[in-house]
Amino acid sequence: MTSHRAARSARLTWSLLAGVLLAAGAVLVVPGWRPAAVVATSAGSVLLVVAGAVLHRPRGAAWWLVAVMLALWGSGALLVQVHGHATAAANATVSAGQAVAAGIVVHVARRRAGDREPSPGGRLDLLVTVAVLALAGAQVLAALLNGRGDVSGVVVATVDVAVLAVLLRFTASRRALPVSSWLLLVAAALTIAYDLSCALHGHRLALPDEPLQSLGVLSLGLFGLAAVHPTMTSAFEARTFTRRRSPSAALLGLLPLVAVPAALWWVARTRGAPGLPDWTIPVTGAIVAALCLLRARAALRASEHLAEHDPLTDLANRRGLARAHGERAPAGGRSLLLLDLDDFKQVNDTHGHDVGDALLLQVRDRLVAATREVAGAAGAVARLGGDEFTVLVPTACAAAVADHLLRALAAPVPVEDLRLRTGASVGIAHEETSGPVPLAELITRADVAMYAAKSGGGSRAVSYHPAMREEVARRYTLSGQLRRLLSGRAAGVGHLEVHYQPLVDLASGRATGAEALVRWFHPEHGLLAPADFLALVRSNDLDAQLDTAVLEGVVQQLARWRDQGRRALPVAVNLTRTSLDDPDLAGRVLTLLAAADVPAHLLHLEITEHEQLPLDSPAARTLTRLHAAGVEVHLDDYGTGYTALDYLRRFPVQVIKVDRSVVVGVVEGDGQLVAGVLAMAGALGLRVLAEGIETPEQRARLVELGVQQGQGYLFSRPLPAAAYADRVLGPVRPRREDPTPPPVLGGAAVRPVSSPAPSPRG
Ligand code: C2E
Ligand code: MG
Ligand code: MG
Repeated sequence: MTSHRAARSARLTWSLLAGVLLAAGAVLVVPGWRPAAVVATSAGSVLLVVAGAVLHRPRGAAWWLVAVMLALWGSGALLVQVHGHATAAANATVSAGQAVAAGIVVHVARRRAGDREPSPGGRLDLLVTVAVLALAGAQVLAALLNGRGDVSGVVVATVDVAVLAVLLRFTASRRALPVSSWLLLVAAALTIAYDLSCALHGHRLALPDEPLQSLGVLSLGLFGLAAVHPTMTSAFEARTFTRRRSPSAALLGLLPLVAVPAALWWVARTRGAPGLPDWTIPVTGAIVAALCLLRARAALRASEHLAEHDPLTDLANRRGLARAHGERAPAGGRSLLLLDLDDFKQVNDTHGHDVGDALLLQVRDRLVAATREVAGAAGAVARLGGDEFTVLVPTACAAAVADHLLRALAAPVPVEDLRLRTGASVGIAHEETSGPVPLAELITRADVAMYAAKSGGGSRAVSYHPAMREEVARRYTLSGQLRRLLSGRAAGVGHLEVHYQPLVDLASGRATGAEALVRWFHPEHGLLAPADFLALVRSNDLDAQLDTAVLEGVVQQLARWRDQGRRALPVAVNLTRTSLDDPDLAGRVLTLLAAADVPAHLLHLEITEHEQLPLDSPAARTLTRLHAAGVEVHLDDYGTGYTALDYLRRFPVQVIKVDRSVVVGVVEGDGQLVAGVLAMAGALGLRVLAEGIETPEQRARLVELGVQQGQGYLFSRPLPAAAYADRVLGPVRPRREDPTPPPVLGGAAVRPVSSPAPSPRG
């Protein structure tokens, strides 16, 4: 249903409500109008329910049963109007309506049964409800068995008192009921009030001259209105019934039930009807009260537990940790291990919070098992929030516990059909043996050590040392400066500089292009390499800004070189995966190129961290679009990650860049890895580039194996733009003329022994 239609139907409900209230008021004031009003609302309410059911199409039969119930009640009221008093037929019709009402309750109860989860508190709630209803039932039965004359009034009143109490309990313990449910509940409560008032006057139905009829009119009207409100579809849904408030609110909901025995006693007394022996009511009342006390205890315990435990993992929270810390320390002192998952944010961002939660639960299981294995009952695991866990253990076994925790988290965690890798960084703070350290200070120290572990690359444990605080302060300052640098408010924080490292044709040594590598020229620390600040970029969520800054810088530089008439060679730019997750990336890159009038084939993009890209990432679409426009895509650092062949199929890759760590092994005769990559690349029609070539031997061996391209200190270090241009792109030429070939880098040419040059794909 459109929201427009819903709004209209809500407006209709409220205008009708005003009408019904006015009608009920008029009936009260003008006795002559009563018969007409009763007939009109009886028929109107049935029509409204039918109209609502047709309009909103709710699931299940509950609303149709409501229509039948109202039709029966309306007919009963009509008969009273016609005959001037309640005939046996009128009473029977109304009782049939009551039976249908009971049918609705059973129908709904059956539907919600599948949704319930039993808890100790829930079981006690059920016991109290059953005790109260059983008392009402027994009272009714006793009245019927001993009954002389008409006891139906007492019977109805007794049942209604119990039902009213259950309704009140229900509303008090649910949260955010839909409007339609509220209207239904008020209508039911008014019906019960009507029944009770009639019973106290000794009738089953109000007589034509009684003002009480306005109550009936009102309740029938409200039933009808509940059916036309747009929320009517959820009024009988199982989830409406299972959405609960806190344990204390559920406890509050029990209070109306406690009053039932007293109310039953009062009904029996005022009507003088013979029911159960007098003593039964106080006894049942005492039982109900005792059950409620037990229920209160369960609720309080649950609240106390909630205050000291984390709702997701059920581990101790910070307060729970404080309690554990407050207990007597063992002889050798205690240590606090603070553990933070590496890249948890990425899991959340990539796969959603449900997968993140499932991961946290598995991490909890591993942490608890690992701690128990080493420290037994002396270890206490807590969760401080997010992906931060702490373990409090005797100092004697702290190192062993840290070791176990890291090993426990090293294996991938299966969640749904994913296998998530979660390294962790652990900071350890030892309590001084001279005396206990306040918990807040202990956490701060462990946090500082954890930070050191993280900046060391993660997946490690580091013990706190006072000198680390300075380092943390330094990084904190750098983080702030980095944010300012990348947000354009660059005053006093230096500037970014892109350096260019030539890429060469391995055999000839001729430059084929360059890789753009960012540096931060810092006013205090000088030229910072990516290793000094990329971790900070990532932890401050600045990846995309950095990539954009470098991309813009490189495209502008290409345009400048073009304007200077220099040799046009492509430049490869590194992209982080945050950029790849940006669905607008392709559009932005193409606009950038078009604005600077730089041909797309001069821009190459290097993708890294490819192991983390989920199947539904927009990266494949982005890269395909850029590739179609002429931008090449290179797979960086091949051989270090978990590069699946699948990625080579999913992304339009043209070049595989084999990582330096693989290249280093090549001279020691270990060429199989490179040979394997070459074979695969050949089969897929890709080129291979070897990174980090430092010696002529490495180059010769790589050429021998058949690697076409390379990059490394042997040929050139990364150079500032001007130096690169002068060395590789040739001199500034006022007129464009046929350029000479690029210069030879890294010494004389190497003759390839066998070079199975694959035909490049795309
Ligand atoms: P990368 O993309 O694999 O870049 C190659 C790195 O290897 C560069 O380090 C380069 O200076 C270094 N290298 C090149 N030849 C040799 C060699 O012969 N021996 C040795 N030992 N190293 C060599 P750099 O510039 O420190 O960059 C490190 C990493 O930082 C890069 O690895 C890349 O992942 C990242 N990075 C650099 N610039 C950017 C950038 O603009 N954006 C993004 N997102 N990441 C960047
Ligand atoms: Mg790279
Ligand atoms: Mg690389």
